[in-house]
Amino acid sequence: AELSKHDAEWLIDTTVSNFANYYNSGFIEYRKSVAEAGDFAAVEWTGRGATFKDVLGREYIDCLGGFGLFNLGWTHPKVVGAVQAQLQKSPLPTQELLDPLRGMLAHLLAEITPGDIQYSFFVGSGTEAVEGAMKLAKLYTRKSGFIAAVRGFHGKTTGSLALTGKAIFRRPALPLHNNIYHVPYGDAEAVEQQLQVAREVGNDIAAVVMEPVQGEAGAIVPPDDFWPRLRQMCDEYEVLLIADEVQTGIGRTGKLWGVEHWNVAPDIITSAKALGGGVMPIGAFMSTPKIWSVLNSNPFIHTSTTGGNPLACAAAIAAINVTLEEGIVEQTAEKGDYFISHLKDIAARYSDIYTDITGKGLLIGQHFVNDDIGYAVASGLFKRGVLISGTLNNSRVIRVEPPLVITYQEIDTILNRLEDTLQELRTSASLFVAD
Ligand code: PMP
Repeated sequence: AELSKHDAEWLIDTTVSNFANYYNSGFIEYRKSVAEAGDFAAVEWTGRGATFKDVLGREYIDCLGGFGLFNLGWTHPKVVGAVQAQLQKSPLPTQELLDPLRGMLAHLLAEITPGDIQYSFFVGSGTEAVEGAMKLAKLYTRKSGFIAAVRGFHGKTTGSLALTGKAIFRRPALPLHNNIYHVPYGDAEAVEQQLQVAREVGNDIAAVVMEPVQGEAGAIVPPDDFWPRLRQMCDEYEVLLIADEVQTGIGRTGKLWGVEHWNVAPDIITSAKALGGGVMPIGAFMSTPKIWSVLNSNPFIHTSTTGGNPLACAAAIAAINVTLEEGIVEQTAEKGDYFISHLKDIAARYSDIYTDITGKGLLIGQHFVNDDIGYAVASGLFKRGVLISGTLNNSRVIRVEPPLVITYQEIDTILNRLEDTLQELRTSASLFVAD
């Protein structure tokens, strides 16, 4: 249906305030619910690369990238083309028959994952990938405990939520799986202590689960010896090492997989988000032949009707090929260095606003003195045509996670608009009262 300008403005406004509320509960008055908006789907956001338009044709630079979904930008033509072509052939899996695309994708992933990872199981999302990884670790080790990180994020279904180290998400669903221990992220000693205690009391840790760089927590980069020490410890204590690459994977941090920064081969890797090229939902958990033997012994031990369907696999194969062929990973490392160094320069000049800039590649965290200032920066940027995440629950951090195909010119534009925003903020003294 044709939208009047008034309706369109109202819908966009609703979208934006819902978005703001999502990240800043209570900060903006919740004016209309999505349900009330009714014809919500009529709002079209179209885009290519790192730029998109709203229904009124106003242009934005995407600095959010669907939190790691749009690595190849909005609607990459080669990924869209691959899905369209597949749609003509077989959109959904014929359950009993072996689908060649699943095999092709698994083969491709085996080639590009570190270590001896050779098998993949495909699902629809990140949280399902983590659930599968947990189950595989339990089946293989015949143990049930996990060590994960405080402020780590692994999903919101009950298994992955038990790993997620954020009280605000966990609390409503308590009690969750027990036997899960959270340690400070990046603290190898704390992991070792936990493993030691577990061994002493005859406790049963199946795996250590960590993000290579913490995403949701605000692009937190661990010390350089963290991952190598995790690998060493997991071998010593005979527990599995699971790298949750749902957000860091497929080039986000300037390596194809985050763990490659430290040359570590995990036992199980999870992937999702960008795996589908920003066009189809798909996730995967992947592991070595030795570990996978517990799944191969009974093909029905883990199943998913639409996981790894032909459309999703076609998208993933195209996405990986584009990523490799177009040198996206190397460019991401360079763009990330450029972006981070300029942000650090800005943060140093606005030390009354910023506390830190963290990150690797194009997974970057801007850390603020408080949530309100972080929110004001996000909304100031939005007003200037830059879509960026807000701050949540006293996290005091805004992630900068643009499509990896963002241009240097777009990065410069973002930096300029950020400077304008910060200058404007300095003049609004009310933001600087203590929170
Ligand atoms: N693991 C990590 C590291 C994530 O960042 C996320 C999503 N932010 C998930 C798991 C869950 O993925 P999904 O939202 O697709 O379930």
